[in-house]
Amino acid sequence: MTKMKYYSLNHNAPKVSFQDAVIQGLAPDKGLYFPESLTPIPFEFYKNIDTLSNEEIAFEVIQQFIGDEIPEANLRQIISETLCFDFPTVKIEHNIYSLELFHGPTMAFKDVGARFMSRCLAYFNLDKKEAKNTVIVATSGDTGGAVASGFLGVEGVDVVILYPSGKVSDIQERQLTTLGQNVTALEVDGVFDDCQDMVKKAFLDDNLNYKNLTSANSINIARWLPQMFYFFFAYKQLKSENKPLIFSCPSGNFGNICAGIIAKKLGLPIEHFVASTNANDTVPRFLETGFYDPKPSKATISNAMDVGNPSNFIRIQEIYNNDLSEFKKDFSSYTFSDNETEIAIKTIYKNSNYIAEPHGAIGYLGLKKELLTHPNSIGLFLETAHPIKFIDTVEPILKVKLPIPTQIESVLNKKKRSIKIKTYEEFKEFLKLQ
Ligand SMILES: *Cc1c(COP(=O)(O)O)cnc(C)c1O
Repeated sequence: MTKMKYYSLNHNAPKVSFQDAVIQGLAPDKGLYFPESLTPIPFEFYKNIDTLSNEEIAFEVIQQFIGDEIPEANLRQIISETLCFDFPTVKIEHNIYSLELFHGPTMAFKDVGARFMSRCLAYFNLDKKEAKNTVIVATSGDTGGAVASGFLGVEGVDVVILYPSGKVSDIQERQLTTLGQNVTALEVDGVFDDCQDMVKKAFLDDNLNYKNLTSANSINIARWLPQMFYFFFAYKQLKSENKPLIFSCPSGNFGNICAGIIAKKLGLPIEHFVASTNANDTVPRFLETGFYDPKPSKATISNAMDVGNPSNFIRIQEIYNNDLSEFKKDFSSYTFSDNETEIAIKTIYKNSNYIAEPHGAIGYLGLKKELLTHPNSIGLFLETAHPIKFIDTVEPILKVKLPIPTQIESVLNKKKRSIKIKTYEEFKEFLKLQ
């Protein structure tokens, strides 16, 4: 089998292997890595998909992106540890399904990418124990928990999570701070942007070059690409309906939806994509005006999507060769306010007795809008987190009490451990001592 090469979207850095792309995160010219080729999976695979397990599907899907860099047996093991939970499609209305991605250990879809990436890094570290990798990640809430849990106990990898003090929910904070082992939480006296700035500075800091720092957000191909899997799992479940499928992804950094578009390029029969956003509407405005004009992020109740300049959008533009009219054939994007989101949460509960959280509700709204012009299609919205993760928003809107799932219960009585920092210098000192 051949190797897959990855090139930088800034086109000013050498092509690299899968391993190097994963370890570097970002290319030396600060561009995102992109696979050199996308080869459709043979028709037989799609014909027989309903006879395959999720593990078998994931292996077929990801294989070409890794080539011979991870032996088949190890890759199958990584996949099986990644996919330790279900991805059900739940019928909400006629022709409308929720694709539930929140049954993992931290109850957010980021569990898939985080678990896959951590195990790839561990594999690459097997034969060089002395060269530890340090994964640093800034979080506004959801990413940190998934990364902490995904990397917990993984050999040869230290994880450092920076989060803004007092700005994440109680459950989110516990998911970050109670694990221990190779995971350290730094509680930053500041806002999310301060955390993000410290992480960016560390990557550019020549005095830290020797540390093998890497990032664990969706710019990293090993966190981004496995997100293709659940589009295939959804197809497997709904194939027998024999109708065109439309996916609506609640989008922030656009990693998830971009992985869905890659799945379509591999031959998965998806009719159309909807990128549903909150008030951070850079992409919907782009589709309307043809002018990409990022704005500073605005705070909303769907805070995991409060992104003003989505980092993966450049990958989507690459897939469509920057051709806006081709892009619009496959893709729509709509923006919704907090008020509309709250009304949708109420409507879904009233009509379908289904509890959606703010991100999923925005996905639902975008889907409803798109389906107006596709009456014979089946629509799915990605429910990207469990409502319990947004309990402070969902309970007052619905006036219900949410039961606490076991995954969450297990962190509630654990002791919080964090190190408080304020400046970049303190962060740097901490990294040097690691
Ligand atoms: C991260 C996140 C999103 C946005 O996903 P992107 O891949 O960044 O577009 C949506 N919903 C939830 C709950 C998230 O945590």
